[in-house]
Amino acid sequence: MDLPDRFVGCFLGLALGDALGAPHEGGPFEKLAWRLICLPHGDLLRWTDDTQMTMGLAESLIEKDGVDCDHLAQGWARRLEVLRGYGPSTRRILAAVRAGRPWREAGRALFPQGSFGNGAAMRAAPIGLFFRDEPLLMEDAAIRSSEITHAHPLGVEGGVLMARAAALTLRPDFSPKGFLESLLAGARAEEYRARLRQALAWLGRDPSAAEVRRVLGSSVRAHESAVTALYCFCRFPGDFGAMAEFSLSLDGDTDTLLSMAGGLFGARNGSPALPHDLLARLEARDELERLARALCAKRPPPLGARLSP
Ligand SMILES: [Mg+2]
Repeated sequence: MDLPDRFVGCFLGLALGDALGAPHEGGPFEKLAWRLICLPHGDLLRWTDDTQMTMGLAESLIEKDGVDCDHLAQGWARRLEVLRGYGPSTRRILAAVRAGRPWREAGRALFPQGSFGNGAAMRAAPIGLFFRDEPLLMEDAAIRSSEITHAHPLGVEGGVLMARAAALTLRPDFSPKGFLESLLAGARAEEYRARLRQALAWLGRDPSAAEVRRVLGSSVRAHESAVTALYCFCRFPGDFGAMAEFSLSLDGDTDTLLSMAGGLFGARNGSPALPHDLLARLEARDELERLARALCAKRPPPLGARLSP
């Protein structure tokens, strides 16, 4: 499997996971609303904010050779569509940016403590792919891109964790155990560390969906969904269908859970391992592929030139 195929796999896997998870998210009202939103699009698999923000991040990385927060915030604000299921904090910050307010000011004014939702984690994969051989640059980029909308330490750590996870899937010596151990070695908050230890202990033991939901979580909080997605990927590292079915059975924030797991699956196995019949119905597949290939063709500038002051 060559590298461009794995970048494409990551982008298509996360968009497909997002689109497959979206109809299952939330209560009866949210499910009905999503059905109505999708109705005019026929059998197209329509994705949500997870994919829209990932595309915006990739586009900005490609154009700026790294994370330029002002450029990134502007790009996200330009792409913002309210019917994509954005969380309320992100939607309000990006709407303020679109109206001309600087992102830092908008975030601080609206959410002084910062959000610890999973919005930074859900879009972090392109950072991991781009900075795959530069862990210090990766962490710096993941932190700064997370802080635009999810400045709480748990929100930021979710972004760092998922960026690191995406990079680790590319390693030739990948194994679910080594992957989770590496992530645990770099994790800081106990909210993540405890869940990563549990995910490791569960490898090969196949706990029920109810137990996974109870212990790891499946909510919109970053620490209650990022490790859950890592676990889903590690439990079914070579079977997208089984991974999707299990992820959806966890309920909660299903689009983001399956999007995060799907991105890792695609990066690990490449685009040919994704279900072709579903990919044929995926919204903006060509645009996703183009962005993935363009990102793959880029390399980050050297370390000294890129670390933030
Ligand atoms: Mg979403």
